[in-house]
Amino acid sequence: MHVRSAHRSLLVVGSVAFDDIDGPFGLHRDLLGGSASFIARAAAYFTKHVSIVAVVGDDFPKHQLDELTQLGIDISGIERAPGETFHWAGRYAADLATRETVETRLGVFANFQPKLHEAHKDAQLVLLGNIDPVLQLDVLRQVRAPALVALDTMNLWINIKRDDLVKTLAKVGTLMINDEEARQLAEEHNLRRAAGKILKMGPSSLIIKRGDAGALLFHGGGAFAAPAMPLSEVKDPTGAGDSFAGGLLGYLAYAGDLSPSTIRTAMIMGSVMGSFAVEQFSVDGLCGLTTEKIQQRFDALAELAHFERVRL
Ligand code: AMP
Repeated sequence: MHVRSAHRSLLVVGSVAFDDIDGPFGLHRDLLGGSASFIARAAAYFTKHVSIVAVVGDDFPKHQLDELTQLGIDISGIERAPGETFHWAGRYAADLATRETVETRLGVFANFQPKLHEAHKDAQLVLLGNIDPVLQLDVLRQVRAPALVALDTMNLWINIKRDDLVKTLAKVGTLMINDEEARQLAEEHNLRRAAGKILKMGPSSLIIKRGDAGALLFHGGGAFAAPAMPLSEVKDPTGAGDSFAGGLLGYLAYAGDLSPSTIRTAMIMGSVMGSFAVEQFSVDGLCGLTTEKIQQRFDALAELAHFERVRL
């Protein structure tokens, strides 16, 4: 058996959006965004078997879809529906560490009913990016026997669709959320205790993204910390979490196994891709990267976190 081909295909479900981003760098309108836009771009550096399931409105430019195809991403699962593309507006505080949602316009997502193509039902890795948990569950019911299902969500869904989210969570292997969302979901401030409570809701592993403080993985076997790259310039943190998820799952597809050591490496790859995303607005930080650049940043992170074990 070729283990390497076993986990190759990655199905990404998420939003494709226009974002208005406000913050210390001024207001930028109608930037390409959405969880699937970041995830698929980050993952495509590691595997050529990335498919997106999403919906866009009739206002969505064709060249943006063509760009995904040129990156080798399968867009046959992106539906075009009459109406407006999903629109999100967010405002960052001066330190770029906290943000608030100013507006969410679901547009065509309001009536979206994902219907997977036969080929997509056999995906080995499934990444349910941040969208309505009801849609996430809809997709999950259609896939046949994935080796791993990971789910990302956001404060909005924890607030307005907690019950649906909890139902969906019971069926996923890995939950990826940020620290604020973990506290909100668990109703517990202490992150370690919050992680314990969340793991009881169903997922066998939990990844808590903490912005420039890195990311934590909690699972039955303990915990692992991936540092964030200290960067001299951060422009727009939007999509950092999604790019992290795309790098992580993309690397798992590339490596073809789900061993604990591969998952640790994948966490670092997630951190690498998140760091590229925040250096530019929209998906620009993920454009035009090379294997060499990705490798360099991976090596820099390995160096950053490396220490000798000593005996006292
Ligand atoms: P991140 O910064 O990784 O949390 O992801 C930000 C992206 O998520 C933006 O590009 C938004 O378009 C998208 N987004 C924000 N809110 C939602 C939502 N409620 N459902 C789906 N996607 C969203």
